[in-house]
Amino acid sequence: MTGTDMTGTDAAGAETADAPSSTSSKPEYRSPWSPDRTELATILDGEPRYRVDQLWEGLYSQDRPPEEQSNLPKQLKARLASQFRPALESAAEQQSDGGDTMKWLWRLPDGVEIETVLMHYANRSTVCISSQAGCAMGCGFCATGQAGYTRNLSVGEMIEQVVLARRAATPRRLSNVVFMGMGEPMANYDRVIETLHRLIVDVGIGARHLTVSTVGLVPQMLRFAEENLQVGLALSLHAANDELRSELIPINRANPIDDLVAACQLFRERTGRRVSLEWAMIDGVNDRPQDADELATVATNARAHVNLIPLNPTPGWPTVGSSPDRIRDFVSNLRRRGVNATVRANRGTDIAAACGQLAGRSDTKDQATNGPTATTVALKKSGTSRDKIT
Ligand code: SAH
Ligand code: SF4
Repeated sequence: MTGTDMTGTDAAGAETADAPSSTSSKPEYRSPWSPDRTELATILDGEPRYRVDQLWEGLYSQDRPPEEQSNLPKQLKARLASQFRPALESAAEQQSDGGDTMKWLWRLPDGVEIETVLMHYANRSTVCISSQAGCAMGCGFCATGQAGYTRNLSVGEMIEQVVLARRAATPRRLSNVVFMGMGEPMANYDRVIETLHRLIVDVGIGARHLTVSTVGLVPQMLRFAEENLQVGLALSLHAANDELRSELIPINRANPIDDLVAACQLFRERTGRRVSLEWAMIDGVNDRPQDADELATVATNARAHVNLIPLNPTPGWPTVGSSPDRIRDFVSNLRRRGVNATVRANRGTDIAAACGQLAGRSDTKDQATNGPTATTVALKKSGTSRDKIT
């Protein structure tokens, strides 16, 4: 924890907006995927009108930065390069699951590092993107929470993660985007919403193939329900009583479970979509029969379905994930109570690419970036697939 903004408002990132923070030692360029079309048209004032369409098409249909767009004249490229440079520079790449999971560590122009994970399945490819560098929410079981908050990501920094993953996925088609990497998307609300619109309209990924995961910031969840988007919403619940949830997730004190349930109900009413309740199964902590009872009540009231996932190990948290037997008992308890529950296991645990592991320090990484808790860990645990296993 860094003691930075815990309110989940957008204010924390105002200073970073779409430009890197002033701590940068490099020249400050914006990502070419940051400006909207209107702004680009203003910047290209004096050029033939079709240039904006050409540039936009290159960025969003061909996934190419301006310097790689062969149909743009040299002097226009130079003009664009004086303001815009791709933000994501690869600092490290790792693969696991026989090449089906790939993790990138990106270094941004101001030196902060973020991670992106691409997962291939039989019938789809999903990219898990970061919305912030670090996270201020301080969930103890999460490596990003352990490392603390650095800053919000810009629209361009989020879009670039998708565009680069789509390029890397070729010839497979990148079909899904989940905001489940580093950071709390609802604490970077306006930029995340703009990114979602851009992904739907320009990158061309259907709203129903996008999912935003939140720790449960109620005011933003209520706003999100009213956005008139068909984007999926996942709520990281992990405990269904306020005492335990506040212990695991400090922000629960300001966003208690009754309010979360009401927000899920509103989301369902407005969008017709069920919220998915995420539940990382922690041995002896939230995997007991009484936990299943409490969760069943909350899920029923919230009209939500449940996604169970064994807790992934992180360096700063002593408790381990539940055993397969306990998970099986838990899920059958839920189903007996009429709850729609899915069990997932995680991809890429061996390369710290799994949920909650994304602040795992890579060998090439500067220790200062993610703090002393984010040390390299050889997490050679269950590297099973994230597909449904029951
Ligand atoms: N901040 C958002 C999205 C990023 S975290 C959120 O909390 O929802 C993505 C998911 O990983 C969340 O469901 C989060 O609770 C989960 N997660 C965090 N640490 C984990 C761990 N060690 N094992 C399993 N899941 C974890
Ligand atoms: Fe932040 Fe989500 Fe991790 Fe909690 S679980 S610290 S909200 S990234």
